[in-house]
Amino acid sequence: MSRIHVIGAGMAGLACALRAALAGAPVALYEAAGHAGGRCRSFRDKSIGRVVDNGSHLLLGAYRSTLAFLDDIGARERITEIAPAAFPFVDLKTGERWIVRPEGGRLPLWLLDARRRIPGTRLTDYLGVLSLARAGAADTVAARVASRRVLFERFWQPLTRAALNTDATEASARLLWNVVAETFMKGEAACRPMLFLHGLSAALVDPAIRTLQRSGGEVRFLARLRGIEWRADRVTGLQFAEGLMRIGTDDVVVLAVPPDAAAELWPAVPVPSESRAIVNVHFRVDEPVELPWRSPFVGLIGADSEWIFAREGVLSVTISAADRFIETPSHELAGHLWGEVAHVLGRTTGRLPPWRIIKEKRATFAQTPAEATRRPAAATTVPNLFLAGDWTDTGLPATIEGAIRSGFAAASLALDRAARALALRRTAG
Ligand SMILES: Cc1cc2nc3c(=O)[nH]c(=O)nc-3n(C[C@H](O)[C@H](O)[C@H](O)COP(=O)(O)OP(=O)(O)OC[C@H]3O[C@@H](n4cnc5c(N)ncnc54)[C@H](O)[C@@H]3O)c2cc1C
Repeated sequence: MSRIHVIGAGMAGLACALRAALAGAPVALYEAAGHAGGRCRSFRDKSIGRVVDNGSHLLLGAYRSTLAFLDDIGARERITEIAPAAFPFVDLKTGERWIVRPEGGRLPLWLLDARRRIPGTRLTDYLGVLSLARAGAADTVAARVASRRVLFERFWQPLTRAALNTDATEASARLLWNVVAETFMKGEAACRPMLFLHGLSAALVDPAIRTLQRSGGEVRFLARLRGIEWRADRVTGLQFAEGLMRIGTDDVVVLAVPPDAAAELWPAVPVPSESRAIVNVHFRVDEPVELPWRSPFVGLIGADSEWIFAREGVLSVTISAADRFIETPSHELAGHLWGEVAHVLGRTTGRLPPWRIIKEKRATFAQTPAEATRRPAAATTVPNLFLAGDWTDTGLPATIEGAIRSGFAAASLALDRAARALALRRTAG
């Protein structure tokens, strides 16, 4: 029976390997690092003595593939859903506070009530969504919706930076529209924020590896693919440090590595080449703290911190499209962001608590109109090679949902290919 070789154990590779294994195919998953999860993982940090995520991640009710993946691995109870959907905000410059509550079904009737709208905005400002829906492939978010300044600063910009990790002045309007169409245009349930109770690895990674192994999948860590052997029009071998591993005639390979690694292994593949950073600072808090409205997270306007998340003795600040802070000395940045956190908590800044900063330089590809055209499809010109990853052409931004959907798509192509190869062999035999 043909074997499916999946390279890379991030969310895309895990989703692909798991789907294929659950369908009964022999699967091997190879990961360069000593652990799975890629850009979505947790670890115990010695400097603050807590388990932290590489960055705070949020899921949404619209993440149907992620929810299916959580069901496959029996880990739904490891996330918590905020229902009804609520996104609290604090404006550090003006002191205003509000909650975005996208109530009801597909028609956003809640906007008719002035008290529900974002402070400083009028009903007509929200018609900008129609302009976004009609965006061309070359349009940026700002080109479609920046004319309504207050709504832009308090809604479109934070939404774009959070969902696309790219500033609204350069982010793809089409890509943001796809997010809005799957969330706000689908009603309240699709907008519900979902958080990880005990971190990313405990929910998405460790149970996935266990389920994969229980389903007969083989997992190899510290197995970096160094090269691909081709003959005629198909992949015939995988080069690892220990040597060349020949693959069977009917075997299938799925490359689920980041775009730069894919281009190194297969220079002919088009990939997005620009990336954007995300900075997270985790602060240890030893006494109970409450964010406004007792929410587990809050969005900030008029500050460098964009989101604060509260979890199990840790307050975490997230900044998306954070390339401007990559060179800032970490101690300086931690001190500055702690000042903003203290402001939100209504405290004096006081002493800086123990902190850990994580600067993910290549957190996602730059989701600009130009880079979006460089996303390849899962199927390639090589019949036994498929691609997966948040950067492939899923129609979604580079998110957990995009990565998992790409993994599912690659699994179904790989299973089809394996089934066709088997059928051909039977006919020939
Ligand atoms: C700080 C941060 C915050 C984020 N916040 C959110 C959020 O709130 N919500 C959301 O939905 N998404 C968020 N994302 C995005 C999300 O984490 C990613 O889209 C997703 O994890 C990407 O998964 P992937 O499998 O496509 O890629 P990766 O996670 O990059 O996985 C690729 C894997 O391939 C391995 N690899 C590379 N080269 C080789 C090789 N040659 N051989 C073998 N293995 C190799 C890597 O080690 C890695 O494990 C965030 C990302 C970051 C960094």
